[in-house]
Amino acid sequence: MISALDAVSSVLADEGIYRIDLPMRSVSPNVRQVNAWLLARPDGSGDLYDTGTAEARASAGLERALEKAGVRKLDRLVVSHGHPDHVGQALSLRAVHGSELLVPEGLHSPCQEDEIVIRAFLRLAGAPVFDASEAAPWQATSARTVAGGTTLRLGRRLWRAEIQGGHAPASLLLFSDCGRFVFSADQLLPGIGTFVGVSPGRPLDNCLGRQIGHLERLMQVPPDMIALPGHGAPFAGIPKVAAAQIASYRRRLARLLAALERPGTCAQLTGTMFRPPISDIGRMVQLRMAMAFCNFLVEEGALQAGENREGARIFFRAG
Ligand SMILES: [Zn+2]
Repeated sequence: MISALDAVSSVLADEGIYRIDLPMRSVSPNVRQVNAWLLARPDGSGDLYDTGTAEARASAGLERALEKAGVRKLDRLVVSHGHPDHVGQALSLRAVHGSELLVPEGLHSPCQEDEIVIRAFLRLAGAPVFDASEAAPWQATSARTVAGGTTLRLGRRLWRAEIQGGHAPASLLLFSDCGRFVFSADQLLPGIGTFVGVSPGRPLDNCLGRQIGHLERLMQVPPDMIALPGHGAPFAGIPKVAAAQIASYRRRLARLLAALERPGTCAQLTGTMFRPPISDIGRMVQLRMAMAFCNFLVEEGALQAGENREGARIFFRAG
């Protein structure tokens, strides 16, 4: 008997679409792999949507997959968003294949995340200073910027681009002309909650509002459309998965609101929202997420924000 997943794989193989499952290191125990998606043409050329990390084992895995699919040349490389697990091999692949590189419009947050910005963010979050410096944002020269509504030819089909924010400043989703597939990046993942946190340089951003708004639109797509996600296996039933993701954000928002019996800073709230972080990177992720959730509740009118004597934002229930 063919399982539902095998059936999806054979539909995709008929289209020349292959999921390349690449290993990756991650701070999250739920994320151990990332997908690069190959769109192959019968003449031995193809296009790639996302590239995996810059790790050597990922690059070897990608090379093997291209060989197996009989693709010798990558004409176009599309990156869904600027995170290292999606762009890691973009520049080296471009150098080897001479590919055109396509990136979403608004790839980066306008503020540079240098040490001063990070320190200001930590003060605003009410957290002590720790070494939270991250790798510099990924940059690519001579890349083509793709705006929402653009039509791209990739593999054997035309794809309509949609730019969405929330998980990253901008994510490029692609809907197929046949209406059956969408490359959904990390905006919607099977069985894994999508991380949403502010950029330290834009601490007042309501990115969770944008994320939920986008999920509400995904609840309108046909239930048999197949999502080709950034992590995990392809899945159908996008409206249900989107609704479950919103419900999960809503549960966390309700917990946060319940925890604010007394006014608190983001640093204080992370203690009630999450398990203790195992690393400084994890601590930063939690603070960015707490700030995003508080901003959402301020925007909704459920919370109000003030400032304490140390210059931290302090949140309290409205009314
Ligand atoms: Zn990712």
